[in-house]
Parts: sequence; C-alpha cells; structure tokens
Amino acid sequence: MAYPEPIQKLILEFGKMPGVGVRTAERLAFHVLRSSPEDAFALALAIRDVKKSVRTCSVCCNVAAADPCPVCADPGRDHALVLVVEQPHDLEKFEATGFRGVYHVLGGVVNPIEGIEPEHLTVERLKKRVAGGGVKEVILGVDPDFEGDGTAMFLRALLRKSAVRVTRIARGVPAGTSIEYANASVLAEAMAGRQEMEPEE
Ligand SMILES: [Zn+2]
Repeated sequence: MAYPEPIQKLILEFGKMPGVGVRTAERLAFHVLRSSPEDAFALALAIRDVKKSVRTCSVCCNVAAADPCPVCADPGRDHALVLVVEQPHDLEKFEATGFRGVYHVLGGVVNPIEGIEPEHLTVERLKKRVAGGGVKEVILGVDPDFEGDGTAMFLRALLRKSAVRVTRIARGVPAGTSIEYANASVLAEAMAGRQEMEPEE
C-alpha cells in the first residue's frame, strides 16, 4: 500500500537532502508526522526564515544576515589577505584560530565524480575579486584530500595571470582529514606554515 500523498511528498523532499537515502527520508517524514504540531511547525518556520532572512555576502559568498557580512564590513581586518575555504563552517573554524584577514567561501570543492564542476562553485567571483585589486595574498584553506588537492591546483592555475601570491596551508592538518574536525591549534599551525604554490608551466 502506498503512503498518503502528503507523506510521499515529505519523503520526496527529505530525500533531496545530501546524504539522505529513501529509508532515512521515510524515518524523518514519520518523525515529523508523530511530533507535536508545535515542533512540526517550528521546523517549517525555521526553513522559511532561513530562506527569507539569510543571504549570501556579495564579497566573500559567506552566509550572513547582512550584505556585506560583518567580516567583510570590518575595517580592522586585513582585506589584502584572503583565505579561501570550502564551506561556511570551515570559516568558523579559522575564526577560532584568531585569523584577522578576510575570507572567500567556495561552496564546495571540484569533484567530477559527484558532478561538482568549477562553475558550481564561486571561483569566478574569486577571480574577479582578485582582479579588482587590493588583494596581496590568497591562502588556500581547502581540505588536504584528493578533491582539495585538485581544487587547489585548479585555483592556482586560475590565478596564474594575477600578481597575487598564492599559498596553501601546511600539512599540519593530517592528510585525508577534514578542516571541519581539526582543532584551532592545529589549524593555526597549518596557517603559520603555509607554503607558496608555484604556477605550473
Ligand atoms: Zn563577506
């Protein structure tokens, strides 16, 4: 027997979320069905509010309630130093290290197997930002894994013609791990030991 249509719809929507398969989508849908009206509507409202009130910063592409975001609007930070991160949660990790430059949020890494190409990321925005002047160094703070390495190479090539210095954070972050799980002191060390990336011939 098929589920009533509203449940099918909810399962379909949950199933669109990253890492959620059909079984998990079903579990989530039935969780919503069993929860109190207050809890269920709170979830619906939270989804609506995040879409209504959170925007993308037009400078760094981070999520923020204001545009430009508080980091980009802060005159006390070094705007010549741009740290490129994969996701907003990586930015939070670097903030905890006391970094006083600014950021650029890529929105992911190049991953052809999962169909994520450079045009799905904010790389063109980064190129334009650097071309606009005022940036002296671009630090690549991508994960030290296969996709991160590929993305770093891609970005190095992308910025080849600009006079900007391109560095990549050191391997203090163990290879294959995610910045998301690194602690602040490990990240601070990786930042201090960042190395120049030479453009390929
Ligand atoms: Zn910003």
